[in-house]
Amino acid sequence: MKPFAYLNPTSEKEAIGTLGTEHGTVAPLAGGQDLLARMKDYLAQPDRVVNVKNALDTTITSTPDGGMKIGAAMRIVDLAEHAEVAQRYPAVALAAVEVGTPQIRNQGTVGGNINQRPRCWYFRNEEFVCLKKGGSVCFSVSGENQFNAILGGGPSFIVHPSSLAVPFVAYNATFRLAGPKGERMVRAGDYFTLPSKNLQTENVLAPNELLTHVILPAPGAAKTGHYEVRYKASHDWPIAFATVVMSMNGDTISSARVVMGAVAPIPWRAEAAEAALVGKKITEETAAAAADAALKGARPMSRNAYKVQVARTAVKRAILRAGGLATV
Ligand SMILES: Cc1cc2nc3c(=O)[nH]c(=O)nc-3n(C[C@H](O)[C@H](O)[C@H](O)COP(=O)(O)OP(=O)(O)OC[C@H]3O[C@@H](n4cnc5c(N)ncnc54)[C@H](O)[C@@H]3O)c2cc1C
Ligand code: SF4
Repeated sequence: MKPFAYLNPTSEKEAIGTLGTEHGTVAPLAGGQDLLARMKDYLAQPDRVVNVKNALDTTITSTPDGGMKIGAAMRIVDLAEHAEVAQRYPAVALAAVEVGTPQIRNQGTVGGNINQRPRCWYFRNEEFVCLKKGGSVCFSVSGENQFNAILGGGPSFIVHPSSLAVPFVAYNATFRLAGPKGERMVRAGDYFTLPSKNLQTENVLAPNELLTHVILPAPGAAKTGHYEVRYKASHDWPIAFATVVMSMNGDTISSARVVMGAVAPIPWRAEAAEAALVGKKITEETAAAAADAALKGARPMSRNAYKVQVARTAVKRAILRAGGLATV
């Protein structure tokens, strides 16, 4: 491993002062499960590693407008076990509790989860200098693409690896970013970037900024459903999953946010599904029609057509769960 300086700031301001202006030269270290693995695999070679766990907020607080503010250094296990989060934002708690294994949830943080890098096999192997690593080829196009994107891909076909990002987008959360010029607020839905706009990174975070908080708006009386599909009930990322947040007027859906995970390079908002839900009651037929709409634009690769049906099922079951209708 390349030698690096290790810094241990104790305040947000001090941490920001240690960051650089070029991606890759300085790396914030949270739980380290992604960063340290990439360093050991020669994929990340920072000059400075900045431990942010003593500098950033580890707590959850209430906001004046009835929402909640989650510190980026909070451990995933603490989010998963937070009673008020589970009661008010059940999809966030469900997504957190499904991440990896107990050990991974004990070590991983909210900020690290949102900013973890892609799991594409070619990205993770130093031998493959693919497009995303400055090369000229996306090896997944003619290679192993079982777990790659079916929506929004090109020229890179990663899927975003964060389970927490999907409910954060569905609940219309805001991310607080802090940098040398102060703070800026970015909607979760605007934070993540498609490879067609930005190949080098997966979001709008500048190299000299940190993600410090996730701010959830008051949930009101929204109905929420979350459904994940995995190969096995053990440590792995989902094949496809969905979070649905619906506002109701009586038993009619007045507005909906439908967001899919593990299908696209960003948490994928299915606006056609949202439109299909508005004005309807939550029934098996409504859920099926919305799920069909969500996947209508899917463009599977040579080996991942199976994901289209998996994602369709995840959307349908998330809607049914939101309606309190039984799903297996
Ligand atoms: C076997 C396995 C299974 C997993 N399964 C899942 C899963 O199902 N779902 C899922 O979502 N995740 C999964 N993960 C990922 C895990 O949940 C961790 O969240 C993730 O690896 C990174 O969290 P961390 O705190 O360890 O981050 P780190 O490794 O410390 O950081 C990750 C990246 O984010 C940057 N970073 C960290 N904090 C900040 C910040 N505050 N601001 C800006 N940048 C920051 C770092 O520089 C680094 O680039 C799995 C991991 C493993 C090893
Ligand atoms: S999908 Fe992206 S990360 Fe994977 S090989 Fe293609 S360019 Fe590289």
